[in-house]
Amino acid sequence: MFEGIAASKGIGIGKIKLIEECELKFVPKHIDDVEKEKLRFENALNKFKKDTAESAESIRKNIGEKEANILEGHIAMISDPAMNSKMMEIIEGGQCAETAVDTVCDMFINIFSQMEDELMRQRSLDISDIKTSLIKILLGVENVNLSQLESGTILITKDITPSMISQIVKDNVAGVITEIGGTTSHAAILLRTIEIPTVLSVAGITKQVKDGDVAIVDGNDGVVYIRPEEELLSKYKLKREEYIKKKIELKELVGVETHTKDNIKLKLYCNIGTPKEAKTVIESGGEGIGLFRTEFLFMDSNHLPSETEQYNSYKEAVDLLSDKTIIIRTLDIGGDKDIPYLGLKKECNPFLGYRGIRYCLGNIDIFKIQIRSILRASAFGKVKIMIPLVTCVDEIRAVRKIVEDCKQQLKAEGIEFDKKIEVGCMIETASASLIADILAKEANFFSIGTNDLTQYTMSVDRGNQNVTYLYSAFEPSVIRSIKNIIDCAKKQGIEVGMCGEAAADELMIPLLISFGLEEYSVSPSLALETKSVISKWTKKEADELADKVLKLSTKAEIIKLLQEYKK
Ligand code: PEP
Ligand code: MG
Repeated sequence: MFEGIAASKGIGIGKIKLIEECELKFVPKHIDDVEKEKLRFENALNKFKKDTAESAESIRKNIGEKEANILEGHIAMISDPAMNSKMMEIIEGGQCAETAVDTVCDMFINIFSQMEDELMRQRSLDISDIKTSLIKILLGVENVNLSQLESGTILITKDITPSMISQIVKDNVAGVITEIGGTTSHAAILLRTIEIPTVLSVAGITKQVKDGDVAIVDGNDGVVYIRPEEELLSKYKLKREEYIKKKIELKELVGVETHTKDNIKLKLYCNIGTPKEAKTVIESGGEGIGLFRTEFLFMDSNHLPSETEQYNSYKEAVDLLSDKTIIIRTLDIGGDKDIPYLGLKKECNPFLGYRGIRYCLGNIDIFKIQIRSILRASAFGKVKIMIPLVTCVDEIRAVRKIVEDCKQQLKAEGIEFDKKIEVGCMIETASASLIADILAKEANFFSIGTNDLTQYTMSVDRGNQNVTYLYSAFEPSVIRSIKNIIDCAKKQGIEVGMCGEAAADELMIPLLISFGLEEYSVSPSLALETKSVISKWTKKEADELADKVLKLSTKAEIIKLLQEYKK
């Protein structure tokens, strides 16, 4: 058995096709005829753009708009004047086109890969993909044709890129295994979208296999078996059937109300990062948006989005959602999310520093633009404002004052907005949880951010691998904190939801039902599964289990008990 990262769910069984990238070695050459070399470079560039545009078109047809945009982003990146003119400069200095591409791409890969923010780091993979494709074109190396793979193929490669995925015919590929890559890479996002079982970062796997070997890819548990025994194979064939059956059954839940087994009606919302994703919310049975992470609008831009740009984005999501609720979280940067053009200073403890609402209250001009845009969009649907990283009452009071100021301005300008717009708090810090009773008197609603609540309760950096063993929402401290937040909200009569990953965890759901959580906001791909888990529990069963859990002392005991009772 080989272990890796479970990047796309499902069970794949098939025969291995090993894609061994030939080394793109070239000997740097001095060029005498600079004009001829510039032409060779331009021809390669044009071919790259043409091939990429064709792949994007095929993705648009077979996968979707958002995914096609990723590849089109490669064309935009290589057309960037800064990158282009640097390559030309190198050629004009007498070096060959391959050296120009290699040097400039490596320079940008270096810059992006050192950024703290995960999404920005992923840009370095995009540039690496561009570099490989361009050098291949210059060297005349033919790409392996992934569109011709036989049905039932398990694709194994050192790394997989969006352009490779664009060639894949979904029905022919039973699974994908790579040696490197993580779950937030663009490639992983694409593989999840086309639902190919995938395990990434399986160390040394390309050296352990040969073409034609049978393999099992378990994208649920992140494990891989090569040349499995007959008994294991039969077991996994059964698991695969069960998984497929479950997926088909889940589809029937689209449009069905979310309720517990004893008919307590709950809300199933989704988390999104771009307005376009609002469409997938409806398709996956989401009943609203519990978290719109607006920082991605800022991160995907090279300038501060203007009021009109932000308004258009929020309005697009509001229109797609028609009469459904959409909770827009104000800018949550700092911590692991950087926006280069804002020039944030490096901090020793970024997660304890100038992040979320702290940054916005220190940069009121930027904050007001966002609040005005959200208010303007609120004229067209059910919009709520949510504040990230609240730690004290002063912050919500300060935000309310800014919201009021913006309302006055808009009123004076004759611009429509929802006069009763709600302002809620994310409860995701230890402090906010401890004063949840006080905050509940000032906020219109709460949403529990367990990703950060776990980090700030356990004092464990959510991205630090050395301390991941402590990062769990099943720690007794985090569970007590969640219960306290829900209790305080209910006592005050305000709505309480959860938009952290724990809301979709089948082991956590019975506890949340017992504590009285009303709104579950999860990734669109997990919405139906969450709805299904909720429907299996009665309040009484959940209460009995929660009583037992609250008496336990360790995370291990809690998880063991919840596993035993899992439905
Ligand atoms: C959270 O902290 O749980 C949350 C939903 O916010 P983010 O993951 O964006 O910090
Ligand atoms: Mg958070």
